[in-house]
Amino acid sequence: MTHVSSLYLHVPFCKHLCNYCDFYKRKIDTTQNQFEDFHQFLKESVVHHQNFLKCHDFSWAPLESIYLGGGTPSLWGERGASFFEREVLQAPIQRGAEFTMEIDPGTWTLEMIEAWKAVGLNRISVGTQSLNPDFLKILDRVHSLEETLGFLTYLKEENWNYSLDFLLGVPFSIEKNRDIRSELDKLLHYSPKHISLYILNARSKYPYIQHMPDDHYIREEYLFVSDYLKAKGFHHYEVSNFALPGFESKHNFKYWRGESVAALGPTGTGYLSKSSTEAVRYKWKVSQAEVEIENLTEKELSLERLYLGLRTSDGFQMTQDLTCLVESWSQQKYVTLEGNVIKLTSLGYLMLDSLMDDLFRFENQSGNR
Ligand code: SF4
Repeated sequence: MTHVSSLYLHVPFCKHLCNYCDFYKRKIDTTQNQFEDFHQFLKESVVHHQNFLKCHDFSWAPLESIYLGGGTPSLWGERGASFFEREVLQAPIQRGAEFTMEIDPGTWTLEMIEAWKAVGLNRISVGTQSLNPDFLKILDRVHSLEETLGFLTYLKEENWNYSLDFLLGVPFSIEKNRDIRSELDKLLHYSPKHISLYILNARSKYPYIQHMPDDHYIREEYLFVSDYLKAKGFHHYEVSNFALPGFESKHNFKYWRGESVAALGPTGTGYLSKSSTEAVRYKWKVSQAEVEIENLTEKELSLERLYLGLRTSDGFQMTQDLTCLVESWSQQKYVTLEGNVIKLTSLGYLMLDSLMDDLFRFENQSGNR
């Protein structure tokens, strides 16, 4: 029997559906019984999930990490805290566990946070995106700058362990001369322990597709932010993540290190690592409490390990002769080599997909020789 000690729960409700967002979510509608339906879905899912774990010879161990993502999980409120504790949790939470909830400005109350704290909440991830009111509007965010600053003030005063989401590659950045440095200075004033940096991925129907900054701009913006945060003591420990020492996300490291993470909630995706050569990934359907299952082959797992290793400051231990490739990457300042561990630089993180293409080409050529 193998154990799983991490849980992701997807809570798919938002006050407003931002026009750039690809996540599965529904607009909250107080005239409907959305939460009753969600609770019913979760109750059925928990039963199904217990059987699913058993079939794969897994059982729960005391939880080391919990992550409530969305959507906007904070909209679940106090009723969510009691439902989660009563119906969802199937194992005790370990002392020192990391328990994160995503909370958007304007979607919280002190009572709600206290209720979740009583269940174990000790880390908050804030959907900030920008500290410029013009860009908040362009981004179709429903919260105001005042709501953001009010929440950050509370988090700072209460010394919360919290993370901020910050978005780059925002439309009109060039036309409106986005001042990233002053936004970062404002953010840092509120003492976040962790910052997640994302690049907006515009689809063809995105309303501002004609006003997206070009690749060169985004590259300079990303490298500037990386250098700036590093100079302020943050560790660029994963492609999109920066942390003060000791505040790296334990939950996300489980994914990046290929460790098991169970999941619940519509579109929630779990991963069960059975051995170094066998794993199963599963994703919850939206309309039924059922999962779609993907069994990963040994080859898929080894590529995934390489990709995930390169994503983080753990790096990847060379197991085959990649010397030529790594030399060329190193000349272009994409990687450094520590012993035989390849680690990406910030520029390398930005180029990760193209480095993976290089690697596939290299492996195919080697295989064809
Ligand atoms: S609040 Fe977050 S999850 Fe909801 S629509 Fe906006 S970006 Fe998407």
